[in-house]
Amino acid sequence: MIKTISYLGLGTMGSGMAANVLKAGYELTVWNRSTEKCEPFARKGARVAKTPADAVRDVDLIMYSLSNDQAVEEVVFGAEGILSGIKEGQIAIDMSTVLPATSLRELEAYGKRGVDFLDAPVFGSKNESANAKLWIVAAGNKAIFEKVKPVLEHLGQTVHYFGKNGNATAMKLVGNLIVALEMEALAEGLVLAQKAGLDLNTVMEVVNVADFRSPLLVSNGQNILKRDFSTSFALNLMLKDAGLIEKFGESLRSPIPALRVVEKNLVSAVALGFGKENASALIKALEKEASVEVKPRTASKPISSAVSQKQPAIAGR
Ligand code: NAP
Repeated sequence: MIKTISYLGLGTMGSGMAANVLKAGYELTVWNRSTEKCEPFARKGARVAKTPADAVRDVDLIMYSLSNDQAVEEVVFGAEGILSGIKEGQIAIDMSTVLPATSLRELEAYGKRGVDFLDAPVFGSKNESANAKLWIVAAGNKAIFEKVKPVLEHLGQTVHYFGKNGNATAMKLVGNLIVALEMEALAEGLVLAQKAGLDLNTVMEVVNVADFRSPLLVSNGQNILKRDFSTSFALNLMLKDAGLIEKFGESLRSPIPALRVVEKNLVSAVALGFGKENASALIKALEKEASVEVKPRTASKPISSAVSQKQPAIAGR
């Protein structure tokens, strides 16, 4: 049974997950490159480690959520990295969004030390991480997955098992391909609606009820109308993911023509200086091209007030 856990990487996603590990009653050790992010955890009784190698000392399970492949390279494989401290019998879980090839490299390195490894990236963002509502996908040895599943269930609302290592990372890239295309669709749709002179609040009412609705379109659409681009999922990270999806798609000779268009707009939005804003700031590249700003004529209102809904005689469609 897992009793002691180390969490490395206390960014937007890792901080929420580490807090929920602590809340669930596990003994927690934390490590983060910028040490100040460890302070709130120290105040709640977590041990703060000096290095990744120190962080993995004497714990059952090591989890980490890091920006990208490069960060994983440094924290796992680097001097004083996880691999220099980890011991046979321990379990490591990479929850970052990286290339499946990176997950396989980690598997091999951990395997040489008798350490079990799962790739388990997550769907959801800042709020889902803080509120233990993530959608988690995991891959690797089934018995190890079953052993750590109770821990993952404290972090997410669903946990799906994907079989052999690398498959969960692949699923994460599949999901983020869909997310990127939805964000592009929302941005293009709202710019077109603005150009057409439509009432944007009513546009969002329709997006919320029609058969193309999705929570992602609604929450990002509402925030765009409020001009709120505060970061849950940084534009820089979406551009990083687009690069991973492109590489992955190419490696399998799977076509990704629409993703290339999104990537071009992401590059433009980053060049305009919006990389640290939320991924929805992708719309700013299109706004510049169209010489408009997507903004309702009247203050944006919570969805549903302007809807006149007829009750269907027969439920469903
Ligand atoms: P974030 O807020 O930028 O945090 C990144 C973390 O990685 C920080 O702890 C950062 O340390 C650390 N880091 C970066 N480079 C490092 C290096 N070279 N050495 C050591 N540590 C390094 O990112 P996030 O939003 O939490 O995302 C983390 C991962 O989850 C990413 O792979 C992302 O794609 C994925 N993800 C994000 C979301 C989302 O909505 N945000 C959703 C699903 C998945 P410092 O604090 O010192 O900078």
